[in-house]
Amino acid sequence: MRTGQPEILQAIIDHLPSAVSMFDADLNMVACNRRLRTLLDFPDHLFEPSLPSLYDLALFNAQRGEYGPGDPAAQAEALCTRARSMEPHVFERQRPGGITLEVRGAPLPGGGFVTIYTDISERKRAEHEAKRYAAYLNTVIEALPQGVTVIDENLVIQLWNQSFERLLDLPLGLMQPGVTFEDVTRSNALRGEYGDIHVEQRVQEAAALARQFLPHRLIRQRPNGSTLEIEGRVLQIDGEQRGFVTTYTDITEISNAREKLEQMALHDPLTGLPNRTQFENRFQLEIDRQRRGSGPLALVMVDIDHFKRINDEHGHLTGDACLKAFASLLHWRVRRTDLVARFGGEEFLILLPDTDASQATQLAESLREAIATMSVPGAPTLTASFGVTTLQPGASQSLAQLIERADMAVYRAKAEGRNCVCQAADPNGGDKAPHG
Ligand code: GH3
Ligand code: MG
Ligand code: MG
Repeated sequence: MRTGQPEILQAIIDHLPSAVSMFDADLNMVACNRRLRTLLDFPDHLFEPSLPSLYDLALFNAQRGEYGPGDPAAQAEALCTRARSMEPHVFERQRPGGITLEVRGAPLPGGGFVTIYTDISERKRAEHEAKRYAAYLNTVIEALPQGVTVIDENLVIQLWNQSFERLLDLPLGLMQPGVTFEDVTRSNALRGEYGDIHVEQRVQEAAALARQFLPHRLIRQRPNGSTLEIEGRVLQIDGEQRGFVTTYTDITEISNAREKLEQMALHDPLTGLPNRTQFENRFQLEIDRQRRGSGPLALVMVDIDHFKRINDEHGHLTGDACLKAFASLLHWRVRRTDLVARFGGEEFLILLPDTDASQATQLAESLREAIATMSVPGAPTLTASFGVTTLQPGASQSLAQLIERADMAVYRAKAEGRNCVCQAADPNGGDKAPHG
């Protein structure tokens, strides 16, 4: 079958996806495939009546400008000189029409060499596009004020931006290629970011949780006073979990503002005491507790006596100072579970959970006595009138009705001569005499 061998070889190279040429030691072509003619746009006449020499081909290329400006004969000669060195080589060549060829040449054992030309234009375009998208992505994530990380399925942090390093104050040099989620968690733990904890235990717990690849959102208070919102989304590639994309948003300002708003919405600006809204919220909670079995609930209303005179005789600022001192006295003298609120003007409400009428009256008496010992610069000694009422478990009374009863008790205390405590009339009958 020796005579058949060249045909078989020709058939093989004709079916290769690449162009192939083979030259002998004298740089004359001994074989090539069809693809060589199509890929390099060689006209058929170059291959007739016999295969061309390397010089013929190079000269043809040089003349049609494939090697750029210059003398075609000199360009063809230079190419042949390089070929004679018989060094294996790989290079890329740009052809007109946006085609990129990869040219691989290898010397043959008996002299001469074989060259394979592969059209890599598609691969080059894809590489170029990938680079372009990487540049887009990089520019976008670096422009974000948010920190961003991409963590792969092995918890290696594959991508991060400068905002991430800045928001977490990560030590210089920590974020390097190959850095893991555990490395960052450990660095944070060692710097006290998670408070006083066992470092390795914390690292292992966090890593075990991360490996569950669940979406998560948490708020982290940093020791430097900043507040971060951390949100992890599961990264899916071809329908499989491949890690996390995590964002870190600095919400310090917004959370401080929210806290301030909450403070403003629920507190009286002059005395700092809870306001009526907070009182109502707390009352509702106590009613719910009562339904679950807690005892009676007492309400005490306090109204400063002849407060108008303080303002009139000593000035509004002194009046304000009296209100502050009065509020503070009430606040510090009740139990931690009780709530003192400013109801309005010089009127205050005290909510006393699990307290019956006699205990509430006793507390009101002790407050009344304490007020007499209070001194505010520039103001005379204050007195106040107290109205006490209670809500028994199961009784259906609204807060408004309860307040109205306490108010009536205060009114009676005023009528009784002020500076005294009155219990509200029992809605089921029975009344108590004023104390004081
Ligand atoms: P009574 O013993 O009957 O309660 O007399 P009173 O003067 O305390 O009652 P009245 O309701 O006539 O007056 C309440 C006064 O409280 C009038 C008002 O100017 C004063 N007041 C209300 N809110 C404030 C405040 O925020 N600051 C100051 N300085 N005074 C206030
Ligand atoms: Mg009043
Ligand atoms: Mg008053």
